[in-house]
Amino acid sequence: DPRSLRSTLESLDGRGYASYKQLRGRHDLGPATLAVDHVQVDPYAPPSLMRLLVPREAADLPADLVDTAAGRTAVADFLTRRAAEAARRHGPDGRDAGEVSINRPGQEVLERTSVVIGETHVEARLHVALPAAGRRIRGRDAATLLTEVLPRLAEEALHHDALDAAALRAHVTLHRDQLHLRGRLAEAGLVAVVGDGAILPRRSGDSDLPMDAADAVPFSSPESLRVTFELPSGSTVTGMGIPEGVTVIVGGGYHGKSTLLRAVERGIHPHIAGDGREWVLTRDDATAIRAEDGRAATGVDISPFIGDLPSGSDTRDFSTTNASGSTSQAAGLAEAVEAGAKTLLIDEDTSATNFMIRDERMRALIPADREPITPFVDRIRPLHAERGVSTVLVAGGSGAFFDVADQVIALDSYLARDATAEARALAEHPEGPTTAGPVFAGERRRVPQPSSLRSGRGKPAKARGRTAIQQDRTTIDLAAVSQLVDPAQTAALAHALDRLDEMADGRRDVVELIETLCARIDAEGLDALSPHRGHPGAMARPRRQEIHAALNRHRGLRLS
Ligand code: ADP
Ligand code: MG
Repeated sequence: DPRSLRSTLESLDGRGYASYKQLRGRHDLGPATLAVDHVQVDPYAPPSLMRLLVPREAADLPADLVDTAAGRTAVADFLTRRAAEAARRHGPDGRDAGEVSINRPGQEVLERTSVVIGETHVEARLHVALPAAGRRIRGRDAATLLTEVLPRLAEEALHHDALDAAALRAHVTLHRDQLHLRGRLAEAGLVAVVGDGAILPRRSGDSDLPMDAADAVPFSSPESLRVTFELPSGSTVTGMGIPEGVTVIVGGGYHGKSTLLRAVERGIHPHIAGDGREWVLTRDDATAIRAEDGRAATGVDISPFIGDLPSGSDTRDFSTTNASGSTSQAAGLAEAVEAGAKTLLIDEDTSATNFMIRDERMRALIPADREPITPFVDRIRPLHAERGVSTVLVAGGSGAFFDVADQVIALDSYLARDATAEARALAEHPEGPTTAGPVFAGERRRVPQPSSLRSGRGKPAKARGRTAIQQDRTTIDLAAVSQLVDPAQTAALAHALDRLDEMADGRRDVVELIETLCARIDAEGLDALSPHRGHPGAMARPRRQEIHAALNRHRGLRLS
């Protein structure tokens, strides 16, 4: 009971920090059970891992909000935000008096490990830095933290009495409406929708918060592309539908092209109310492709884009430890298609020009047999015709894509206009390029060798912020994987790589392995990625596309 935990902690006052070890196990705190899964070895180590378990009856969540996986994700997200708020309000602030936190979500609603709605309990997974004076235990502060702060946190964040039921319902309703709309896109022949009134620009380059409403021009759909969706909640959303096929976004510099594309990239995840992108929703396989020179690639078929290289290497089975701009973009594209992308999102700002286009004069000067690259402009239509892969592309610097565009959206001072007819009138070869026979026919199965995803001494992979995974002495650089939005997703990816390494049997290919892993997460929850039971650490679910992206950037990957 809480009093005995208090007296235990008080008796530890002044002892060496390692004595905190005896906290391991379960303690009754009154409003919650505290499960202490991992105790930090010293005050400078990562915080201890603890869980608060509140019985379902005490949480008393409305049954109709938690009866589906999507509902549980939204409810858990809501409770996580409340717990983070309560921890901030009541927690001590600093190492001496200790610290309590829970993984804080950003602007997206993602499936997370921070709060889990289980059969019998609602569980919050906390990070608790236990109070220290030097390397000694501060028993009284620890007692306050564990027997006063944590019960209060449990009551405020997880108990029914403090629940703002209307806010919870609104949160879940928005989430369900968003997923419903996203699920309707395919049958409507759309790859994305951008809602009228949406605030696309962010406050700054390093912030994901919306630009002040006073400064931002709200999105407004051109009439010819306008679509309306009825939502399960009964409301309707109107906005610009981006159809399947080839869509080119044009406009002067600084007129908002990249901002629109970036919002579409992020529309794979639902955003919270007030974000400005609530009604920007994109098919969940859509993948951003960019140049990323210096990256590694392993056994990728880039032959539709790049033929015989001066080095003599076979581009149907292309491997490099140091890709060029164009080969990296070709590899990223081929990998995205392998991972199941039916929509590609490409910005001129982050593309290799020679991968994208080649103009008439260059075609005249450099004969085709001296140029290994077939530019994307010549492959964008076969990609759609042969593989059903659509492209949304920002191209403000070249009209070459007018020949191949199904629709052209022009941005003028952040306002979208349908410029398809004007662009078509300017097209030089309105019939588009001709190709002799299919170019995307080859279907390469890439089968990882067992143990090739664990370098060196087989240490577990560890996330370093959002953009990197460290594995022994090698680093997997994910900075260019722009649809990876949260460091907790990167933490999940690190575990996913280890699980994939365990699964690799020399028979199953990359796609089969990742599908199997995703099916396991669907069945067992995100906790399944963790190597141990109890508190799994802070994870958020990445898409299968990002699992592919991490695996494909692994420098140790070897194929059978
Ligand atoms: P482009 O890609 O066309 O050169 P960007 O998308 O990079 O332009 O936008 C240029 C600037 O305009 C950025 O600072 C961006 O935040 C801002 N911006 C974009 N869209 C809007 C908008 N709808 N309202 C206000 N500012 C915007
Ligand atoms: Mg731009």
